Amino acid sequence: MHELGITQSIVEIAERTANEQQASKILSVTVEVGSLSGVVPEALEFCFEACTNGTQLEGAQLLIEKVPARARCCDCACEFPLEELLGCCPECDSAASDLLSGEELRIKEMEID
Ligand SMILES: [Zn+2]
Repeated sequence: MHELGITQSIVEIAERTANEQQASKILSVTVEVGSLSGVVPEALEFCFEACTNGTQLEGAQLLIEKVPARARCCDCACEFPLEELLGCCPECDSAASDLLSGEELRIKEMEID
């Protein structure tokens, strides 16, 4: 389950940030998860509890913000929601598009004490 490794790095980053800010406790961590990131939010929640046991994050709340995937067509510049990586433009049917969002996997904010 690769969510375990991802959760571990989230916990590490959160702990490092808390240490830098000399916080004694982390109350909550907000993580942005793009719909194309390949991460299952439920699995992340499941791993979070196990990974935070005995760390500064023990008891902290994990808040997940899902980021929908969006793309911009290279031909007609219209922006559209992307259901899968190889979606075509709904306006002109072009397959050439730039991904605007959807691959996010990062800590957005933390509440510390
Ligand atoms: Zn188009």
